[in-house]
Amino acid sequence: NSILSTVLPAPEDSILSVAFGCRDDPSPVKLNLGLGAYRTEEGKPLVLDVVRRAEQQLAKDLSKNKEYPPLTGLPDFNKLSAKLILGDDSLALKENRVVTVQCLSGTGSLRVGAEFLANNNKERTVFLPIPTWGNHFSIFTFGDLSIKHFRYYDPKSRGLDFKGLLEDLGTAPPGAIVVLQACGHNPTGVDPTFEQWEQIRQIVRSKGLLPFFDCAYQGFASGSLDSDARAVRMFVADGGECLIAQSYAKNMGLYSERIGALNIVCESKDVARKVESQVILIVRSMYLCPPTHGASIVTTILKNSDMYNDWTIELKGMADRIISMRQQLYEAIQARGTPGDWSHIIKHIGMFTFTGLNEEQVRLMAKEYHIYMTYDGRISMASLSSNTVPQLADAIHAVVT
Ligand code: PMP
Repeated sequence: NSILSTVLPAPEDSILSVAFGCRDDPSPVKLNLGLGAYRTEEGKPLVLDVVRRAEQQLAKDLSKNKEYPPLTGLPDFNKLSAKLILGDDSLALKENRVVTVQCLSGTGSLRVGAEFLANNNKERTVFLPIPTWGNHFSIFTFGDLSIKHFRYYDPKSRGLDFKGLLEDLGTAPPGAIVVLQACGHNPTGVDPTFEQWEQIRQIVRSKGLLPFFDCAYQGFASGSLDSDARAVRMFVADGGECLIAQSYAKNMGLYSERIGALNIVCESKDVARKVESQVILIVRSMYLCPPTHGASIVTTILKNSDMYNDWTIELKGMADRIISMRQQLYEAIQARGTPGDWSHIIKHIGMFTFTGLNEEQVRLMAKEYHIYMTYDGRISMASLSSNTVPQLADAIHAVVT
């Protein structure tokens, strides 16, 4: 008479199966390119120096206690976080029509935003790019939200299917939610150009759609916090509404702290007040209020101009290392005379690249060459180093020839 014995096993997560495959491989040269976290040239996780300094400063501050924070998180964190994504001179911020709520990293921000929309948006349709970060499906699959797709990636050009994207968004009903990755698209590495963003903005606005930006990589894609925020700022500058999920997992290396924010840009201060009251309702029933350690680290860094400056340098260092891995991998493949056009590797941006390898080739890479990636052929450029580039280039050459 067990109640729980009838529980069915959840479907296997393809990222975890790649990780398990790698874990169980005894080869000393195994290489896991499936992981979505930054690694140094030595293949180690990185704690930013500025984060260490902020933590030391916080540890010395005896005025801090462990009381509950406000349900919406630390007020200074919210203010600074909104400024970071929207810009110092954002009119929306000056007009007090942005609701910012500290959430559990990017995922938590997306989830709170999804709940808010499920409760408050009349049009129940959410448009996701094909492909997109796998978790987007689960985050938006609840209540009576219905998931639809818009074309995004063109396997032939290994670039953007811009025509398909515009056509599909053109069919979306007014009020539909469109999930857009602000920069460093996961899993493809393909971002629209700014001219293309402008056209996307026009169709989103003319059709009356509601953009929900997933901004997991601000500063981490190009190395510049402002450039990576440019698409979002284009949409905010037109005075229209949007949601933005922010994460400090990648750009401050605060993966485990689960620190991020949901921003909801409204048309007026009055609307913002009502929206905030609805978000608070959701937060209270989900986890009451957010944890404060990560938020304190971020606030310490964003508040202090020296620390902020040091952060931008360390952040650019991470982005530049990834960009240099792209160049090195491209050159190594060229040097081997591997058939095909591999220039997409240097055209793509952010942590990931869609190599164009198919599932059969991916399995072969694991079995014969001990190199692990997701079955869609996505590799994390951040897991590569100058030492491992030749190994990867050799294996790619072998499986495509
Ligand atoms: N969105 C995208 C596109 C991502 O790639 C990730 C991390 N892999 C996230 C959101 C969420 O990350 P986190 O919850 O760690 O901030």
